This record gives sequence, structure tokens and C-alpha cells, in this order.
Amino acid sequence: MSKQRDFVLRTIEERGVKFVRLWFTDVAGTLKSVALAPAEVEGAFAEGLGFDGSAIEGMTRAYESDLLAVPDPSTFQLLPWRSETEPTARMFCDLSTPNGEPAAADPRNVLRRALARAAERGFTYYTHPEIEFYLLKSAEFGAEGPVPVDRAGYFDNVPGGTAHDFRRASVNMLEDLGISVEFSHHEGGPGQNEIDLRYADALTTADNIMTFRTVVKEVAISQGVYATFMPKPLAGQPGSGMHTHLSLFEGDTNAFYDPGAKYQLSQTGRRFVAGLLRHAPEFTAVTNQYINSYKRLWGGDEAPSYVSWGHLNRSALVRVPLYKPGKGGSARVEYRAMDSAANPYLAFSVMLAAGLKGIEEEYELPPEAEHSMGDLSDGERRAMGFDPLPTSLDHALALMQRSELVAETLGDQVFSYLIREKSQEVAAYRQQVTPYELNSMLGTI
Ligand code: GLN
Ligand code: MG
Ligand code: MG
Ligand code: MG
Repeated sequence: MSKQRDFVLRTIEERGVKFVRLWFTDVAGTLKSVALAPAEVEGAFAEGLGFDGSAIEGMTRAYESDLLAVPDPSTFQLLPWRSETEPTARMFCDLSTPNGEPAAADPRNVLRRALARAAERGFTYYTHPEIEFYLLKSAEFGAEGPVPVDRAGYFDNVPGGTAHDFRRASVNMLEDLGISVEFSHHEGGPGQNEIDLRYADALTTADNIMTFRTVVKEVAISQGVYATFMPKPLAGQPGSGMHTHLSLFEGDTNAFYDPGAKYQLSQTGRRFVAGLLRHAPEFTAVTNQYINSYKRLWGGDEAPSYVSWGHLNRSALVRVPLYKPGKGGSARVEYRAMDSAANPYLAFSVMLAAGLKGIEEEYELPPEAEHSMGDLSDGERRAMGFDPLPTSLDHALALMQRSELVAETLGDQVFSYLIREKSQEVAAYRQQVTPYELNSMLGTI
């Protein structure tokens, strides 16, 4: 029995924990939870907890439906909600087959595999997300559409408003769960907020994002409002992005840092960015997995629509941020397309694979974009080599289907599941006659 497992069992006893929730994430990015009696935890560590994988989105084909959830003791945390009366804890799980192989369709395993490939080259991968979301009065809506909780904007301080209390309660709860928050503020849209998590290794960050979504939903319920991570809930208002800062370390050294280089971005960093840019169109179906995601990407309001990189340019797909001289450890690049509804395990995996490919194959970084993408004409953008990101989920899937990089990174099972499921989503949407069509055509045509 490892020290970590011992610690978990001891804590359960000492704190009188009544339920231990085992968490994992399905391919679609939904958190799944099964509650375990404390007496069962030791057995779950040793043998895993069996469940019917075929009942979970994308997990297994029916003929190999038995899966085991093996709790990862390093993720043990007491949950701050409902804990006074019935102390409850959670652990994230790794899923395996009954003969002990990692389950192919477990997103956490996909990321572990991608991280192992980086480790072979001596790299550890760190990420930190800026998570945007909307607070609405309710999930119900009438003819006027969803109603946000306030009319405030970017960095607004709203006296007595919901948003302020909401952020304070969420940040406190996250800190109780051991998740450090760097910033939180009102975002550009009415009712829109952003909370930025401190950087951590990518597996921890992905777990933290799943926890974050649960925390935000729980706090919203306790405050009588509704929180949504939908990429574009309000037409004409900014969407909710999940800009993510990425860096590679070799031991204690930030591999993206070179004090003598332009923007202090090392050759490794430049090649990593070149990899992100070259492969972005083919992995966009992973970072932006819904029909609605493309309403954000093509809706203006600082969401990137074209493949470009820049330093201060907020319309760029990849931004190389400013940081203080001497703070080389914080060298990083910001990928701005991903949205708040992405499956973080899969999205982190494809971004890493694209960046590593750039490093291995020594991709050349194209010139940086000095203009705001929106100020250029189509012709100018073409001449300067700024390709568009996919304009729809349909388009993104067509590009992904031809991508060896994405197929290899996700593995066959996740890859084909996503293509199949997402194609069905596209087909269902194609059947719709929208209010836009009715409003613009009825009465004139
Ligand atoms: N909401 C914008 C997006 O969708 C980002 C706005 C910002 O953080 N500057 O990406
Ligand atoms: Mg931000
Ligand atoms: Mg923001
Ligand atoms: Mg940002």
C-alpha cells in the first residue's frame, strides 16, 4: 500500500468521511461520478471499481463493456459543499480494462499518453486556463433569449451585484479544494465572468478544470442563478473562450525562454508555436467541439478566426505574452481558440502533439501578424498567409478526418467516436429551420 493510499484511508477515518466520490470524464467532456462507501475504498485501490462502460458516452464497444475505475490517491480532496453534515471526498480515476490495460477511451489516459511522449523528449507540459462563463438568471428563456444576471462589462465592479459575490464564493471554494486562482473579473459580456487558474502540470490542470466547472455550477445553484460554459449563449455578445497558456519545461528550465531572443521566445518555443499554427485547423474540432463553438469563433469580439500569431495582437490565434525581465520561468504561449466547453484532457493532448511535431520537424515560424485580423480584407489576409480556422463544425470535422496527428494522438477509439458523434450533431442541425431564416424570409420571399 503506497503512502498516498495510506494517507487517503487515514483521512477518511479521521474526518469521518461518509462518501467518497470517484470521478472520471467521458469522451464528450462530461464529469461522471459514483459514490463509494468508505469501507470499499481500499478494495477500489487494489482492484478498481467495476462498471458498465458501454453505458458511458464513447467509452467502450458493447462487447468489451467491463471497465474498472482505479482511484488516483494524489487527487483526494474533501468537497467543501454539503460537507458539514456528511463529509464527502472525491478522487479522480484512471480507467482500465479488466486485464489492467489503460482504457483506450479514457480522456485522462489519452493525455497521459501524450505526456509520456513529451517526457521521452525530456519535456514536462504546463498549462493554465482563463475560463470564461456566463451567469444567467435561469436556464429557462423566453422569446427575448437567455437573461444575464447583470448589464456590466469588462473589469466592471458591480456594487451589490451577483457577480462579485459569486466570484468570491467560487474562488474561496476552489482554494478549499487546493486549486489556486490567479485572477477573477467581470468579462466583456453582460453576466460574463472569467476566472484564471494558476499554472500546473497539464494533467492536474485538466482535473482542475473539471472540478472548476462543478464548483461554478454548485455556487450558481446556491445563489439562485445559472452558470453556463456554452461557447456563445448570447447572439451579439462575446462568446466564452478558454484561452490557455502553454509551456514546456526541461527539468527546472523553461524551454520557451531565451533572454537573447525576440520576445525572449526560444527556438523551441518558436517551433512549438509553428506546430500549433500549422495543425490548428485539423484539431479545432477537439478544442471547439460544438456547432455553437463556431458562432463564437466567427462572431468577432476578440475570438480568433484566422491562423496567426502575435505579441500584443488580441486577434491572433497564438499570443506570446509579455512578462517581466528576469521572469524567464513564466515564458509561455497563449492559445486563444479553445472554448470553455472543450474536453480539457483531449484539447491539451492535441495542442501538445502539434507543438511537439513543430519541434521535431523543425517547423519555421511564419512572420507575426502586426495588424488586427479584422482590419484586413480577405485578399490581404490570403496574401499574408493567414488561413481561416474552420468556419463550422462540419468543416472542422472534414479537416480532422484527414489528420494523422489527431488520429494518432486521440487513438482510434476516441477519434472515430468523435467523428461519428459530431457528424450526427451536424446532421441534426442541418434539419433545423431557424428563427433567423423565418424572420428574414417570411413576408418577403
Ligand atoms: N471572450 C473572448 C473570447 O471569446 C476573449 C476576451 C478576452 O479575454 N480578451 O475569446
Ligand atoms: Mg484573461
Ligand atoms: Mg477573457
Ligand atoms: Mg487571454
